[in-house]
Amino acid sequence: MGVFVNVKSFGSRHAAVSTSVLPAVLGADMNVPLADGTMAPFANFDHAATAPCLEAVADAVNTFLPWYTSTHRGAGTLSAICTAKYEESRITVRQFIGCRPDDHLVFTRNTTDALNMLARIVPEDTTTIVFAHEHHAGLLPWRDVRTLPIQSDVDGVLTALDGALAEIGAKALVVVTGATNVTGELLPLEELVAITHRHGARIAVDAAQLVAHRPIDMTALDVDYLAFSGHKLYAPFGIGVLAGRSDWFVAAEPYLRGGGATVNVGDDPRDVEWSLGVPRHEAGTPNVIGAVALAAACETVRTAWDSLIPYESVLLTRLRTGLAEIPEVNELSLFGLTEDRIGIVSFTVDGVDPGLLATALSVEYGIGLRQGRFCAHPLTRHLLRKSGTPGSETAVRASLGLGVDVAKVDRLVDAIRTISEIGLRMLYVTQDGTWWPTAVSVSSHDAGSVH
Ligand code: PMP
Repeated sequence: MGVFVNVKSFGSRHAAVSTSVLPAVLGADMNVPLADGTMAPFANFDHAATAPCLEAVADAVNTFLPWYTSTHRGAGTLSAICTAKYEESRITVRQFIGCRPDDHLVFTRNTTDALNMLARIVPEDTTTIVFAHEHHAGLLPWRDVRTLPIQSDVDGVLTALDGALAEIGAKALVVVTGATNVTGELLPLEELVAITHRHGARIAVDAAQLVAHRPIDMTALDVDYLAFSGHKLYAPFGIGVLAGRSDWFVAAEPYLRGGGATVNVGDDPRDVEWSLGVPRHEAGTPNVIGAVALAAACETVRTAWDSLIPYESVLLTRLRTGLAEIPEVNELSLFGLTEDRIGIVSFTVDGVDPGLLATALSVEYGIGLRQGRFCAHPLTRHLLRKSGTPGSETAVRASLGLGVDVAKVDRLVDAIRTISEIGLRMLYVTQDGTWWPTAVSVSSHDAGSVH
C-alpha cells in the first residue's frame, strides 16, 4: 500500500502522489549494519552518482538473459534475436530523447565516454566552449577549448556565451550541462540553444543529471548533441549514449578501431573501408544487456513522469526546508536558492568536517550520501568560497530519486539536526581524508574527531 503525499508540484499544479504508482527500484528496503552493532533501513541519497536499478530493468534483463549471445555477428537464431533486440533498444532510447530521424545514436560506456567521443568527432577547426562550472567529463576532453568563468546568475551565463560566440563565430561547439551535479540547478537550455544557433554554432548537452529528472526532446529543444549514462537513469550494466547530428560522426575517424566498425579490410590492413553508419563508432562486441536495460528504463521513466516529477519536488522541498531550519547548515547554490533545480542538495555543516559528517551519517544512521568535490572541483571550490565556508574544501551532497521517501528525508534532516545540536555518537579517527569510528562517545559533546 502506497503512502500519499500532498504535492505543490512542478509548475503550479497541485497533486497527491502515491508511492504505489511510482516505479519500484531494487534495494529500497535494504537493512545495513551500524557501528553500534544494530541494523537500520538504508537510506540512499546518492542517486546523482548512481541510481538504484529499476525492478522493470532487472525484469527485462532477466527475461532477456536466456536469449543472450553474440550481437551483430553470428548466424544463429539467438544471434539474430540479440541483434534485433539491440537495435530495438536503440529505437526506444531514440524515442525517449526525441532524436531527429537522421541523428546518429551511438551506445557508449557512460557520459564520460560519450563526451570523449564527441571531443574526437569535433572538426579540427572547431573551438569548444565550456563554462568552468562543468563536471570534469564536460570540462576536460576538448582539444581546442575556451573555458568561460563561472557565472553567478543565469543572465551572466547567457551574456558570457553570447560574447564568446561573437568572437569565435560559427566554428564552435558549446558544451553545457543540463543540470549541475553539485547543486541540481538547471541551465537555461532553450536560451543557450537559441544563442548558439544565432551564431551558427552547435551545442551539446551533458544530460547525465537531467535525464532521470526531466523529459528531454532533442528535436523540440533543437539541441545538436546529447550525452548521458544509463546508471543514473536506473539502468546499470555499463551503458551510455551519445546522440546527435550525423555529419560529424560520419566525417570523423572511428572512435575505436576494430571489428564491427568496418565494411571491408583489404589484404593490406591499412586498406580499410570504415562503416559510415552508427557502427563506425561502435567497434567491438556491443553491450546488448546494457542496451536492453537502458531501453527498459526509458520506457518505465517515460510513462512515469507525471508522478515522478511532482513526487521528487515534494521530497526536495521537504529536504531543503528542513535543512534551512538548521542554523549550522549552509546550502551551496550557483544562481541562488530560489532557482529551479532537480533533486540535488550540497551543503556543509559548521564545525563538522564533511568527510566526518558523511561517515557518521553512514555508520550511526544508515544514511548514504556523497562527500567531496563531486568531480567538479572548480565549481565546488567556487561555491564553498561563495557560501562563506572557504575553510572547507569539500561538501556533502544528498541526491534524490526513486526509492527515497518522506520518512527517509526526515531521517536525514533529523540526523543533521542531532549532529549539529548534540554532536556525534562515536569517536572517530582520520587518515588521508578517510574517517573511521573507534568507540562510542561518553558524552555526545565530546564526540567527534580524534586525530
Ligand atoms: N556529467 C555530469 C553532470 C555528471 O554528474 C556525471 C557523473 N557524476 C558525469 C557527467 C559523468 O558520468 P559518468 O561517470 O557516468 O561517465
